[in-house]
Amino acid sequence: MGWLPGVVALLIALKYTASFLLSKLNRREVSKYQSNPPAAVLAVMDKETYEKSVAYTLVKSRFESVTDIVDAVVLCIALFSGLLPFIYSKVMAYGSSDSAWLGAFFLIATSLLLSVVSIPFDLYNQFKIEEGFGFNKSSLSLWITDKIKGLLLSLIIGLPLLAGLLSLVNRVGSTWWIWGFCLLFIFQLIMMVLYPVLIMPLFNKLSPLSDGPLKDRLFALGERTGFKAKSIQVMDGSKRSGHSNAFFTGFGRFRRIVLFDTLIAQLTEEELEAVLAHEIGHYRLGHIPKGLMLSLAGTALSFAVIAWLSTTSWFNPAFGFHSGVLSASFLLVGLIGGLVTFWISPLFNLLSRKHEYEADNFAKKAMGNSEAMISALRKLSSKNLSNLTPHPFYSGFHYSHPTLVEREQSLTSR
Ligand SMILES: [Zn+2]
Repeated sequence: MGWLPGVVALLIALKYTASFLLSKLNRREVSKYQSNPPAAVLAVMDKETYEKSVAYTLVKSRFESVTDIVDAVVLCIALFSGLLPFIYSKVMAYGSSDSAWLGAFFLIATSLLLSVVSIPFDLYNQFKIEEGFGFNKSSLSLWITDKIKGLLLSLIIGLPLLAGLLSLVNRVGSTWWIWGFCLLFIFQLIMMVLYPVLIMPLFNKLSPLSDGPLKDRLFALGERTGFKAKSIQVMDGSKRSGHSNAFFTGFGRFRRIVLFDTLIAQLTEEELEAVLAHEIGHYRLGHIPKGLMLSLAGTALSFAVIAWLSTTSWFNPAFGFHSGVLSASFLLVGLIGGLVTFWISPLFNLLSRKHEYEADNFAKKAMGNSEAMISALRKLSSKNLSNLTPHPFYSGFHYSHPTLVEREQSLTSR
């Protein structure tokens, strides 16, 4: 067990050094073009917007490097200082050590404690950086209310779910992780239906798209592309941010389309139709179940790993816990897992980008040409001050979507 903390310390050093270098590389790449932007970029963004996007990218990137350092320090303290076993012993003083409720409480309490550190950084990001570039629309009181609601939700939903998971080991023994996976699968399906109905309205106002030419146009698109939408909802995203988005929630007959009000304000009707066609593309091409399958496979794998590690004589004890303490293994794998998955994130981004190209192509076919899609993408990149010249290594690790220039090339070539 002496070797494990050393290996984990090495993994921390590797991940955060890589992340730091990638950000630095990306800043250098962006700065390189700053004074003479590539022609492909000036074709899609006016010079003033381009300069603003460079400034925004650089500020964000430096800020990310600072938060990376903080994250690494917090992770080291959590894993190597004895803090977690100390909290565990305090929590367990209130009952028996095989109490699933206490185990769940330990997990939620420690995650909350570790995330407290990020609060000042969240505040700075929202009210300094985002504010400085005109994106922040949230007030401090709304921001605080959001945090409190999030906290209450994690207690109301997270606590019973985790307690349910942890109690399985007492009921079914070493095969708990298979049952746990089934429990989580059912929970996810239920949440896909309940989330837009019960949870989203706690944070945002959703209203059906009002009657008129836009609604007729979008419903006609749905008919044409074999997507029978029951309703299209408009969400008041402008309450918090100037960034815009569109997405799907639910599945089967519970599915619905949500458009940010900011998106509707920024795009023409034809561009909105193209964006919706892209979203329908994701749906019709089966990207949504594929994504769900992938995330379920990830859950099953991590549960199997937790089940195995929790019973070994070396994993928990290396961090000050007794072997067999399942809640501790959950927490430790949760903290350490990211150090490993970081290295495979480029693979997932590749898959996601493949899906984006496919959805763009679907939209092109549905619209009959690529013009509306291209002008929508151009506008969204400008409005969101997207970085048009990321370093390929950086975008490999961090971009789930191809860059604007890549998407345009693909839309005009196929
Ligand atoms: Zn997409």
